[in-house]
Amino acid sequence: MIPIMTFFLFIYGACLGSGLVALATRYSRGESGWWPRSHCDNCGQSLPYWQLWPVLSFLMLRGRCFYCRTSLPLTYLGLEFSVGVLVTTITDQKSLLVVMWLLTWTYAALCDHLTLTFPSWVSYLGLGIVLGAQPIALLLVAGTMVVYHWAWAQWRKPGLGDGDIDLMVQYALLFGVETTSRWLILACGLALVAHNRGNAPQAFIPWLAISAGLFWI
Ligand SMILES: [Zn+2]
Repeated sequence: MIPIMTFFLFIYGACLGSGLVALATRYSRGESGWWPRSHCDNCGQSLPYWQLWPVLSFLMLRGRCFYCRTSLPLTYLGLEFSVGVLVTTITDQKSLLVVMWLLTWTYAALCDHLTLTFPSWVSYLGLGIVLGAQPIALLLVAGTMVVYHWAWAQWRKPGLGDGDIDLMVQYALLFGVETTSRWLILACGLALVAHNRGNAPQAFIPWLAISAGLFWI
């Protein structure tokens, strides 16, 4: 029997996952995050409430738009379900902070997956969640971030994005260096398995985020 609290946390998390997918999709298309109301990305038809239930609507519609029958990415369903599970791990203030931090980076991972970039405020928000209780450390790390973000902008073809470095630094601050090394090995392994051949740049934040979620759960 699933405790009622876990059930409600899952529903709440699945709604958050659905919201993150919508916001990242709109970011990738250069649309406003809040206007117009939810619509199909292909035919533009506004979606009624019964097509917006996380997980359930995807299953009822068999992963297709009700109007134009375009397939919806399976990532949507996976994200709604995974964020639902992630939110059920909130048990106290510490786990609440970690989940908020993971959700922040899930949004960055989705944006990176769609556009190979993400809004820079995400890095600072993530850092604020990690070091919010230690203002001096927060100022020092944020200042260092500003400097290396500037340095990265001078680098014509960086081998690794500065956003990846932000995430790695924050992970090490949260979980310590030893866990960070295991987390990185898993992320690199996942990225290598999924790597499609060729020299095109690959998004790495999604693998870091998936690995972080797996370690946390
Ligand atoms: Zn449609």
